[in-house]
Amino acid sequence: MALQIPFDNSYAQLPQPFHTRINPKPVRAPQLLHFNTALADELGITRGTDSELAEVFSGNRLPDGAEPLAQAYAGHQFGGFSPSLGDGRANLLGEVVDRDGQRRDIQLKGSGPTPYSRMGDGRAWMGPVLREYVVSEAMHALGVPTTRALAAVATGEPVYRESGGLPGAVLARVASSHVRVGTFQYFAARRDTDALKTLCDYVIDRHYPQATGPADLLNAVAQRQAHLVAQWMSVGFIHGVMNTDNTAISGETIDYGPCAFLDTYHPQTVFSSIDAQGRYAYDNQINVITWNLAQFASSLVPLMTDEKAAVAAFTEAVHAMPEIAEAEWLRRFGAKIGLASATEADRALITDLLDLMTHGRADFTNTFRTLASRAARDQFLDPAQFDPWQARWRSRVQSEPDWQTRMDDANPAFIPRNHRIEQMIAAAVSGDMAPFQRLLDVLSRPFVDQPDASDLTHPPEPSEIVQQTFCG
Ligand code: AMP
Ligand code: MG
Ligand code: MG
Repeated sequence: MALQIPFDNSYAQLPQPFHTRINPKPVRAPQLLHFNTALADELGITRGTDSELAEVFSGNRLPDGAEPLAQAYAGHQFGGFSPSLGDGRANLLGEVVDRDGQRRDIQLKGSGPTPYSRMGDGRAWMGPVLREYVVSEAMHALGVPTTRALAAVATGEPVYRESGGLPGAVLARVASSHVRVGTFQYFAARRDTDALKTLCDYVIDRHYPQATGPADLLNAVAQRQAHLVAQWMSVGFIHGVMNTDNTAISGETIDYGPCAFLDTYHPQTVFSSIDAQGRYAYDNQINVITWNLAQFASSLVPLMTDEKAAVAAFTEAVHAMPEIAEAEWLRRFGAKIGLASATEADRALITDLLDLMTHGRADFTNTFRTLASRAARDQFLDPAQFDPWQARWRSRVQSEPDWQTRMDDANPAFIPRNHRIEQMIAAAVSGDMAPFQRLLDVLSRPFVDQPDASDLTHPPEPSEIVQQTFCG
């Protein structure tokens, strides 16, 4: 059967300032790298041949019903405001309503220049495309709200980056929408209150139908984002570029750039080459998401008739965020040490472990996964330092029914480790997609012990440690 996508587009119907209609720019020799058949089934996409998939998901051939466009948005990047960003290398092909009745965007990333490209080439190279593919699918399997990867296609064209010419690729990704905090900021900065109102209504209808207006919307988004960041922390994830244009209104993780998972635990870990100040460090993510939601709140103020009351309500909503995130953090880290409902009295047990892990240079994932066994002590530089904590924990967890299952469900055995991602990319560039396929397979069941894949649980050897990650 031919490739068919049951498009049902809504964003394309929004008025002109929301987007620019533009087609993807064709590429020389598209070749399918991977296609996510299970996700395609969810979306009601019929598959077609590999060459058809390569043509469509490289942007060379427009499928029936697509209305490609680049979305307009603004954003605070590392704290500085850019009133005009927008999709500089992405095309929204359109939307489908999935088999659960949920509306989802299908977007190509790396699909050529748009009016928002500024100095950029509109392209992506294979490294970040495959990184986003593996990491976003791994996040999904870990239970973290995220955009998904539908297809990756090599373009047959080089992309030029600092290190020279690299093989180009296009990622087809799926999101419950690509509306960002920065989308609201775009219209607020232009004082286009009509568009702001249209956007607010659109977002409430699409994502938060129970919300009664902007104040309610703010509360709902703040809650979802606070939960999301706590969940990131519970799996050792560092987003890396939490600019307001990379903060999705839906509450999904979006725009995987220099993101990375912790190996050795240290709260101030930063991988991104462009984050010299550590603004987006592991343990600063709750602060940053709160700051980003304050920007969202500011952009909503023009919609309020009683500005004074609005500012008071919005301030309260933003100030509540760290507390919401901390409560979710406690719940999730409580589960990681086996507790069904951790209370404030348990917080010290968790933070003492994290302090020991910091000083003992323990591997985040493996320590939690093996906490109940002798193997946990071997994670620490000085294993004896762990023993008193383990004894303390044993006496606390004793009274918790099902603690072992709870821990197995909260502590993954497998995460996409940076060195494995780098090795996978190097292999793919030389034409070997087997490591990519293996990572994808193993990471689709992160909470299941898979003895054949025990090498993927190992932290990097000193020579394999990835010091920095890049945007691509
Ligand atoms: P990011 O931080 O990767 O989410 O991107 C920030 C902004 O830069 C967005 O407006 C992107 O569309 C744009 N951008 C990033 N890379 C490129 C590129 N290679 N060409 C054009 N625009 C780009
Ligand atoms: Mg972005
Ligand atoms: Mg981007």
